[in-house]
Amino acid sequence: MPKLISREEALAQIRAERGGEPCLMCGIAARRIGAVHALYEDDDFLVFLPRYVRRWGQVCVMPYAHVRSFGEMSAASFGAMSSLGHRVAMTLERAQRPKRVYLASTGSSAGELVNSSEHMHLHAIPLYMPDDKPSDIFSWRAGVWVGADEEWADLLASYRAAWAEAT
Ligand SMILES: [Zn+2]
Repeated sequence: MPKLISREEALAQIRAERGGEPCLMCGIAARRIGAVHALYEDDDFLVFLPRYVRRWGQVCVMPYAHVRSFGEMSAASFGAMSSLGHRVAMTLERAQRPKRVYLASTGSSAGELVNSSEHMHLHAIPLYMPDDKPSDIFSWRAGVWVGADEEWADLLASYRAAWAEAT
């Protein structure tokens, strides 16, 4: 079973894994910050399973380019990211059967934080509880879920199968 750890424990682990990387997302994309569970990648985007999540099964879409605002993205690039987000959301619906899926680009208005990045990214978060609220999901106050290696591998395998069907 995935394990719920405290926000403080998660932040300490990420701090240790991140080292001196100036951008969290660029560091993940370059595979310099821990294992990357990639569901899909092409020349421009990486779709991966973040390793610290508020709901098990969360997926993140990010451009490889270090863009920090919507204004720095072309309509075509944003469209491509949105298309990937749509396919991810369909994948989550097939594989996890959640009540619903949040699709959100939350960004960071406080610069690069331990667990947050200005580098543009899109979260797809499966919700399993009928009363889940954005304030529950987009805060780490109640802890963060982490998995063991085989749990990540199992989740990735189920997503790969659903991804192939979600077109
Ligand atoms: Zn970056």
